[in-house]
Amino acid sequence: MLINNYLRTFLLKNFLELFFPQTCINCSGYVEEPHIFICYRCISEIPLTNYSCLCDNPLEISFKGRVDLISGTSLMFYEKGGLVQKLMYELKYNQKPSIASFFGRWLGAEMLESGRFETIDIIIPMPLHKEKRRKRGYNQSEYFGKSLAQTMGKVYRDNLLFRVADTASQTRKNRAERMQASDIEYTINGKANLIDKHVLIVDDIITSGATLQSSTVPLLTVPGIRLSFASIAITP
Ligand SMILES: [Zn+2]
Repeated sequence: MLINNYLRTFLLKNFLELFFPQTCINCSGYVEEPHIFICYRCISEIPLTNYSCLCDNPLEISFKGRVDLISGTSLMFYEKGGLVQKLMYELKYNQKPSIASFFGRWLGAEMLESGRFETIDIIIPMPLHKEKRRKRGYNQSEYFGKSLAQTMGKVYRDNLLFRVADTASQTRKNRAERMQASDIEYTINGKANLIDKHVLIVDDIITSGATLQSSTVPLLTVPGIRLSFASIAITP
């Protein structure tokens, strides 16, 4: 009997689920939705911010006087010992970058619905320290940004913003030059791509906002650029 590829995959998947049912990474319960790492009950317990539809939300207010933002949002509140901390741990330290993609689709749908993020042209993820990326094997903000961009139908670029310490030019500088440049943490490549653009910078967690703020230093040298921020989680 001829079994096509689709049927073979389907049968194999069901066979695997019978013996290795997918369990929720939070409560170890049964996961109703295939390809999702968390059960419905735990999803309903995620503390959502609802910032996407809220003008002058606490994220936007927290950057007032530091960075002129067009808009900002975050999907959920991060609290020590809470469910979101557990999710973030799995995402960063347990080889589960698909968690970031899932939340990218979720937040992307929310941002589309709000209508406050329509003018965004390009989505850029926060670059990860080269050594951390090598150890982890991925940058979670890239997974988040990519799925956010796909959901919103926006351009995604992860080759425009870099950490200064990770660029080749920095290693060629002598010690004095490096020390002088130490307050500049980020640099941009291909400035022309950003002129007159509305850029959304995305990160996994916003705590003090200092990292995001320092990434804006080179970006704000681009004529006509406008900036917005989005993250998976934020500390309340
Ligand atoms: Zn659960």
